[in-house]
Amino acid sequence: AKHVYTFGAGKAEGKADMKNLLGGKGANLAEMNLIGVPVPPGFTITTEVCTMYNEQGQEKTFEVIKPEVEAAVAQVEKLTNTKFGDKDNPCLMSVRSGARASMPGMMDTVLNLGMNADAVEGITKKSGNARFAWDSYRRFIQMYGDVVMEMKPASKEENDPFEEIIEQLKEEKGIELDTQFTTEDLQELVKRFKAAVKKETGKDFPTDPWEQLWGAIAAVFGSWNNPRAIYYRRMEKIPDEWGTAVNVQAMVFGNMGDTSATGVAFTRDAATGEDIFNGEYLINAQGEDVVAGIRTPQEITRSGSRKWAELQGISEEERASKFPSLEETMPELYKQLDETQQKLEDHYSDMQDLEFTIQEGKLWLLQTRNGKRTGAAMAKIAVDMLEDGKIDEKTALSRIDANKLDELLHPVFVPSALKSANEVAKGLPASPGAATGQVVFFADEAAKYPVSILVRVETSPEDLEGMHIAEGILTARGGMTSHAAVVARGMGKCCVSGAGAVKINYKTRVMTIDGKEFKEGDWISLDGSTGKVYEGKVDTKNPEMSGNFAKIMDLAEKFARMKVRTNADSPNDAKVARKFGAEGIGLCRTEHMFFEGDRIKAMREMILANNETERRKALEKLLPYQREDFEGILEAMAGFGVTIRLLDPPLHEFVPHEEANQKEMAQEMGISVEAVKALVDDLHEFNPMLGHRGCRLGNTYPEITEMQARAIIEAAVNLKQKGVDARPEIMVPLIGTVKELKLQADIIHETAQKVFEEKGAKVDYLVGTMIEVPRAAVTADEVAEVAEFFSFGTNDLTQMTFGYSRDDAGKFLPVYLEKGILKNDPFQVLDQDGVGQVVKMGVEKGRKVKPDLKIGICGEHGGEPSSVMFCDSVKMDYVSCSPYRVPIARVAAAQANI
Ligand code: ADP
Ligand code: MG
Ligand code: MG
Repeated sequence: AKHVYTFGAGKAEGKADMKNLLGGKGANLAEMNLIGVPVPPGFTITTEVCTMYNEQGQEKTFEVIKPEVEAAVAQVEKLTNTKFGDKDNPCLMSVRSGARASMPGMMDTVLNLGMNADAVEGITKKSGNARFAWDSYRRFIQMYGDVVMEMKPASKEENDPFEEIIEQLKEEKGIELDTQFTTEDLQELVKRFKAAVKKETGKDFPTDPWEQLWGAIAAVFGSWNNPRAIYYRRMEKIPDEWGTAVNVQAMVFGNMGDTSATGVAFTRDAATGEDIFNGEYLINAQGEDVVAGIRTPQEITRSGSRKWAELQGISEEERASKFPSLEETMPELYKQLDETQQKLEDHYSDMQDLEFTIQEGKLWLLQTRNGKRTGAAMAKIAVDMLEDGKIDEKTALSRIDANKLDELLHPVFVPSALKSANEVAKGLPASPGAATGQVVFFADEAAKYPVSILVRVETSPEDLEGMHIAEGILTARGGMTSHAAVVARGMGKCCVSGAGAVKINYKTRVMTIDGKEFKEGDWISLDGSTGKVYEGKVDTKNPEMSGNFAKIMDLAEKFARMKVRTNADSPNDAKVARKFGAEGIGLCRTEHMFFEGDRIKAMREMILANNETERRKALEKLLPYQREDFEGILEAMAGFGVTIRLLDPPLHEFVPHEEANQKEMAQEMGISVEAVKALVDDLHEFNPMLGHRGCRLGNTYPEITEMQARAIIEAAVNLKQKGVDARPEIMVPLIGTVKELKLQADIIHETAQKVFEEKGAKVDYLVGTMIEVPRAAVTADEVAEVAEFFSFGTNDLTQMTFGYSRDDAGKFLPVYLEKGILKNDPFQVLDQDGVGQVVKMGVEKGRKVKPDLKIGICGEHGGEPSSVMFCDSVKMDYVSCSPYRVPIARVAAAQANI
């Protein structure tokens, strides 16, 4: 097999659709070459080699790929007219990781590889710029030392060891900025850096470029398994076996002086989705300087620069002289960049996130990818591109990450609360949203408070997990393309970046804003849409459904085959779900209703009754409550089916366990406390979830089923007489044999007949069952003889198919996920290979007997996109999920069908 793919000078062995093999970065570097965008030449070592590296080890792998790598380096040398390690004309390279799915900042990059005592002379001669040559050299030692030789800070309160040395030298020289270092200073840094490496690692810093190259390749492959990469994969559900590619590429230099620069840009606004080219750059800088927030980057466009200055409270004069845009400093190159960004966006017909470097007046592109964006931006960009005719409806729909729609439903600040809130600082609106929480200063302490705001000078990839946990992120430094901003937008997390007034002391754990102190644990609020920081808590409320949201829902409506219902136990939930487009209720649990007010007393009386007569008396009391509830829900869902499940949980859950409550109950029932206690103890079960519950209750106490059936049918008849189209579907839970269902169905039908006679009116209703015991799925053909519909209860079905207790799985599931025994938590993501096959069998056997049997799902999985797609593939009629997941399920249902 081929392990190395070259690109350069308008030719490439790879192309954009080879992401699986070349990683996203490598595939797009190849593609840019093919469409005439200037890219420094290089080559990509495939993701398959990463897998080989992890399975067969370094020695074996390098032996296999060595000839191809050497040939590819030779080609780069030829195209750049340089030589690796040469004294006069050295070739310097970058070594970059790049996985299939973009993992920004997750893996490590080494720049200026090939530097040594000879090369630095060669670069000096060639460029006539000794300072630049030595600056590149010291950067190389820093990056290589960090990435390959593991020179890390000793603790989280400590600085990076190289930064320590830099600070030390600055102090000795009495200077403040990196740019004030002279060539001699940089030479001194190189010397001290090397000495530090020797001291810390016991190894000499490698001088042979080939040794450097292989070391860097190994580090990139190794970084696939670093903790932050692993965490990111978990979060984004990226499989461990994908691996990363390695891109080796000729360097171009943004740090060659004032005609050189480097930057990052977006073809549209990644926060709002507006079609505005934007980005940041730095003159005389290299690579990571922009994202790492070391110097304050400047805006690329003039209008962006003005907006930035306004937010920072900087006058137009000061802005134009101190922070001019690229459009102003390098108008010709700006024009080229603007043309290139348009070309790239048109080519990929999606918003691009690009990296560029200008070396002595020549523009080079170093990366392009589909840009990460907020949920709001995702919706707007898809709708705008559709309306502009750039993509078709199906493409627009496929651009929606269903889970991200959730962000559009997130709370926003209550305007009046915001007005009276005390604004203490202002930064950049890096990622929209409203966040209120308690201040923490270290990512690994984000979980210290129930809701925290992570406050950092800047964030780094190590902070990922804490950023995920925190409610919002505030940074003192860094721009719109800083690590914090990019990652926060990807997570849909509120972020304010570059709030310059915020001074942080990590040692004392205090932040100071204009003399005002905020300690760890103090409350602050962030508005990620305006960049404002407020003191204390600010109230939030639910958002309005925006126009783009509605348009996407229309698209979903057009393409989905399956219907989406909701799980709702109250008229209010039903109304919310209707607004989100739910067409019916897939699961109405009756037991929640019993906990309200006085009802629980009647319920307890029923449970603690000694005989049928007593039980019937208590049930009489419950009937009107139930009827009233059902009327409310059936009315809120008028015109749509409402599946009502008969009593399901073990009775033990309803009875009083505390002494005071038992006393009260004893009084109520006119019996002794001891008697109540005995009755309660009697209900104890060793395995309640496999015990006396579901239809086992209805079959042992048929009068419960009778009462519930009566309440449902009476409610429906009452509504019909009011002119409301009520459509009850009565669902028997937890059956394992057809007879269990048959006996319950008989009671329901008899009761309905009685009610119809009493009322002199009829309604249509269905009797069906939940399929949640594996035996019910296996014998679904028999069950379907009686059932008029099936609803797969995949929570219990997962529990019983795996034999994992839902309530106890927390003890081992995390370990199982870590060890790769399971890919996902099966209670969140339907296990298609196992539980899914049981579902499939149930559907097929059921439909063999009743071809038009109505079938749906009502477990948590009904709102999880991959599970929804599975439900479509086995031809279910609908999925049902909680109200706020209805939009997500609707989009997933549509995506399953395009
Ligand atoms: P990440 O995936 O973390 O963005 P990259 O591989 O894109 O890492 O590298 C980080 C930065 O290094 C890039 O933004 C770019 O500015 C710089 N860089 C990478 N390769 C080169 C190169 N060949 N010449 C100049 N700069 C480079
Ligand atoms: Mg990059
Ligand atoms: Mg169940």
